Amino acid sequence: ALLERTDAVDGDVHAYLHVDRDGALATARAVDARRKAGEELHALAGVPIAVKDVMATQGLPTTCGSRILEGWVPPYDATLVTRLKAAGMPILGKTNMDEFAMGSSTEHSAYGPTRNPWDLERIPGGSGGGSSAVVASFQAPLAIGTDTGGSIRQPAAVTGTVGTKPTYGGVSRYGLVALASSLDQAGPCTRTVLDAAMLHEVIGGHDPMDSTSIDAPVPAVVEAARRADVTGMKIGIVRELTGDGFQPGVQARFDESVQHLVDAGAEVVEVSCPSFTAALAAYYLILPSEASSNLAKFDAMRYGLRVLPEGVTDPSAEQVMAATRDAGFGDEVKRRIILGTYALSSGYYDAYYGSAQKVRRLIADDFAKAFETADVLVSPTAPTTAFRFGDKLDDPMAMYLNDIATIPANLAGVPGMSLPSGLADEDGLPTGFQILAPAMADDRLYAAGAALE
Ligand code: GLN
Repeated sequence: ALLERTDAVDGDVHAYLHVDRDGALATARAVDARRKAGEELHALAGVPIAVKDVMATQGLPTTCGSRILEGWVPPYDATLVTRLKAAGMPILGKTNMDEFAMGSSTEHSAYGPTRNPWDLERIPGGSGGGSSAVVASFQAPLAIGTDTGGSIRQPAAVTGTVGTKPTYGGVSRYGLVALASSLDQAGPCTRTVLDAAMLHEVIGGHDPMDSTSIDAPVPAVVEAARRADVTGMKIGIVRELTGDGFQPGVQARFDESVQHLVDAGAEVVEVSCPSFTAALAAYYLILPSEASSNLAKFDAMRYGLRVLPEGVTDPSAEQVMAATRDAGFGDEVKRRIILGTYALSSGYYDAYYGSAQKVRRLIADDFAKAFETADVLVSPTAPTTAFRFGDKLDDPMAMYLNDIATIPANLAGVPGMSLPSGLADEDGLPTGFQILAPAMADDRLYAAGAALE
């Protein structure tokens, strides 16, 4: 039924870059046979899932939305994919994304944008717009996204779905093509909070293949989602992440959601995180710096595309590398490689990267202080509802400003969730409610999130 749904709608939505019809059906049938034979299977066995095209999938193309990886088929699975398969979950295909996960709209995908199922003239968020759209358009009940600065939560917000960025180190990054290694985290994209919790439990937990993986059990997220209890929970409203700069309809739905939590037994406190105002600037130095280093491996020798320079007989390795990177990377990727390389240059390191790292510390301190008075922090996920294609494409700053509320969590490594908060009055489009918790207290996101559903 899901594959038929894809045939019917994905010509318009374009959530998938690759659909693995035969593989998904084969897994589904195999699981069915095991179940009929009386085998005890995982609760999600047989439940199909779509995976963002940034995760390595053995035998399935993995492009990261880039020309430079066109035709690359990984010889191994990401740990997260291995865990999906072990649970018996059929993998439907790979979802569209901004090239190398840089963007907030999927307009930077080399394979054309994904459209928002609520309004095909609007963006589905980014970078994981394919994963949110595939769920919002009922082509898959579950999807995997990755969130470096908001790429799970912001697409969830603008498509009326649920998305969680787990605690940094909570889900293995082995086999996730790195954008910014100190910020990247994979997580669930779903329609309900309980679905997200169940998926979180499947993919989470220690992995010796990832040196930053936390060696501790996954927080009790499913139990928290089932209990949905916020009695006595202190909800901290972050002063810097509300009011000015947020669309009135987004703010109004946010205020109502806070009231729902209060009605359910929570207590509201106001907290201030003054360093959050510098988060965007710090992020857009740290991310390009790490990305420029991570993307150096795309050298025309090891993966995917190789372009020979025109009119050069017997070109050098450097010439092939330059021609390939010129043809294979899009404008936004080049912009960030140049920015990152500059920020890391000797003589500038202290002024830019070093300063940004200091801001990062201040943001972590702000979180620590806020969590002394609040159990969770809340804000709108994104400042506006889904914008129209082209609206922010020529203005990188306007595009980056979408991430204002989501970025602090990545810089501090704390978990965050976005869930639907109702439709804005101005345009009838979905708005998102963000919940943030201390590191390894992911269960609190699910308790509060489920209480709001
Ligand atoms: N929009 C942010 C960026 O462009 C977030 C990206 C992400 O989380 N992968 O960097």
